[in-house]
Amino acid sequence: MSIPKAPPPSLRLRLDTQALADNWRALDKMSGAAEAGAAVKADAYGLGIDRVVPVLVKAGARQFFVAHWGEAVDLMAHVPAGSIAVLHGPCTDQEAAFARETGVIPVINSLQQAQIWRDSGGGACHLMVDTGMNRLGVSEGELGEDVLASLDIDFAMSHLASADEDSPMNGEQLQRFHEASRNISAKRLSLANSAGIGLGTDYGFDLTRPGLSLYGGVPRENLANRITQVAYPQASIIQTREVMMGEKIGYNATYTAPRKMIVATVTIGYGDGLLRCWAGEGALQHQGYSLPILGRISMDMISVDISNVPSLKVGHLVDFPYELRSSSLACGLSQYELLTCLGSRF
Ligand SMILES: *Cc1c(COP(=O)(O)O)cnc(C)c1O
Repeated sequence: MSIPKAPPPSLRLRLDTQALADNWRALDKMSGAAEAGAAVKADAYGLGIDRVVPVLVKAGARQFFVAHWGEAVDLMAHVPAGSIAVLHGPCTDQEAAFARETGVIPVINSLQQAQIWRDSGGGACHLMVDTGMNRLGVSEGELGEDVLASLDIDFAMSHLASADEDSPMNGEQLQRFHEASRNISAKRLSLANSAGIGLGTDYGFDLTRPGLSLYGGVPRENLANRITQVAYPQASIIQTREVMMGEKIGYNATYTAPRKMIVATVTIGYGDGLLRCWAGEGALQHQGYSLPILGRISMDMISVDISNVPSLKVGHLVDFPYELRSSSLACGLSQYELLTCLGSRF
């Protein structure tokens, strides 16, 4: 017997592809003379490489960044290998051989990676320089090493640690990147992530690398009126019931109905990204109405108060509020976490 196709899922993730394209164009414009690339690691921050990348390509993006080598394979279905950079770089001969074979561009993050890349036969690469974050990158003191002189470097890059804050570290890293770039023979330079674009065109160089803000994230105030929401998660009601005053709702009976209520059971829980931090003050929404979450979140479900919207019935979809900045403030998760924790059942 062949397995029939599953019925439509009860969780939906609507993507506003127009907003996605507009966000890329806005970030490209804010990048000044630099072109904007796109960070699409972690399956385009949870929204899906297959849905996101074609939209970005159409908008004009030409340089793509992933973290893991396996992610490059998914991306190659949409863009030429030479436009893909792998941020974690080659840690093994096998990874270097994969880059050589496919034409995917490795980001070299250490002298050891430079050696691995050279030993594999080398070719075009990018070089990450550390300017104070101490995460990935060759340190400034290592820039004179012979193994680096032998590399064919397209972009020399660095990464900002605190671009979402008005920290003196931003100016310091900018200065250090300028100095470092004089000691590297790279064709082009790249420094800014989304928040770095918000710091101004001094941070733009030849290429910017926005991720979060493509998907609606607002890490700096001056991006707020240029960036719009992209991801709209929705979940279905699978049961409604009347609950009398004094009755309990959910695990551990932590909620007691203060009055007679109409309560809906909705198909969204921990596995989908509705984490414990949403319980208490959190709410779903429907056409401008707030539907407060009642009691604990269950593994796969929540109970919400629909007393104000009695027209809601089994099968209706309700909204998980996902304007990233306000949701981040409401639930305490970072805007990055909000995107990447959305589960695969959407
Ligand atoms: C993830 C990443 C980016 C994108 O950062 P956002 O803050 O999401 O814009 C840019 N550059 C590097 C090196 C990264 O790892």
